[in-house]
Amino acid sequence: MMHFGPIHKLIVFSLLFLACSPSQVDEKPSKVIVFIADGAGVEQWTLAHFANANLAVGQMPVAGLMDTRGSNHEVSASGPTATAIATGTRSFIGAIGVGPDSLPRESLLEIAHRQDWGTGLITTTSITDATPASFAAHVPSRTQRIEILKQMIDLPVNVLLGGGSRMMQVIESQDLIEIQTLIEDRYTYTEDLLELKMLSQDSTANNILGLFSPGEMAMALQGRSPSLAEMTAAGIDILERHPNGFFLLIENEGSDTYAHRNLGRDVLTAEMLHFDEAIRIALSYQEKHPETLVVVTSDHETGGISLRGDEDRNIVMEYATTSHTAALVPLFAKGPGADRLGGLKRNDQVGKILASLMDFSSD
Ligand SMILES: [Zn+2]
Repeated sequence: MMHFGPIHKLIVFSLLFLACSPSQVDEKPSKVIVFIADGAGVEQWTLAHFANANLAVGQMPVAGLMDTRGSNHEVSASGPTATAIATGTRSFIGAIGVGPDSLPRESLLEIAHRQDWGTGLITTTSITDATPASFAAHVPSRTQRIEILKQMIDLPVNVLLGGGSRMMQVIESQDLIEIQTLIEDRYTYTEDLLELKMLSQDSTANNILGLFSPGEMAMALQGRSPSLAEMTAAGIDILERHPNGFFLLIENEGSDTYAHRNLGRDVLTAEMLHFDEAIRIALSYQEKHPETLVVVTSDHETGGISLRGDEDRNIVMEYATTSHTAALVPLFAKGPGADRLGGLKRNDQVGKILASLMDFSSD
């Protein structure tokens, strides 16, 4: 039997360390892009896949399922489940970036900001809606819209693209000087797609606030402009100027809104394909920049969609509810650390894994 003395043990441990550490370092991404299709479960992805056999998510090698529950409820909502992904903490209905105790928890976007990475939030609804808000604000109620915007621009989040231009009029009419001054001092503001495209190529434009509709943007089926893919391309162009890395969250809202209204198969399919086109932009960036981790998931399922067969075995899409359900949602990942996100995970586990992958101070 062999006995190792202290010196031998040291050598063995050093060799193990040398063998393990380079790959572990490689497993940490310096660019992280998280996609959330609000309200989209497995059935919504089934509709998209049946309409297009070459979905971008099909190129993502890691797939799994996510449990979307909150701290004290089974059927969740955007606020608590986006908070769980953003902060690694499950919370209550209405919570934005706070735990069950209503106290702030550091978000993935704030970890990025602390490490001097660029940061961005993109959505097809109001920029202060629950999903983007959970990544950059801390309030006990999602209705605190102006406070949410103030916290976003105070950080500042470098790229804010979506809807919600109505808020600018509210800020003006209520004479909210502090927030007005912050926006004027720190941001280039636009409501125009062509201008956004120019700004995305202008290296002097650091912080961009682009709001392209008064509230939620138009349906994908009715030619939403800018498209989520166009906003994603612009966001990546702006954020890749940050030498240390970047964090970008991209949300498609229509998959939730139109399921609440129990609209037809063509509407939901168009939303999912529109979302997938934005994912395609991120994946082609990831090919050229393999240090990028791309994650695609949902906050919860909406509508309780079933895809039963008619007498010819063609799909009949039916809704069980006009609200959310507790169904597990899909998760796809590609890039450094993606393997850790496969299998069945809780939403707060996904948040904790992403935080440990992104946080270089945790090594
Ligand atoms: Zn909803």
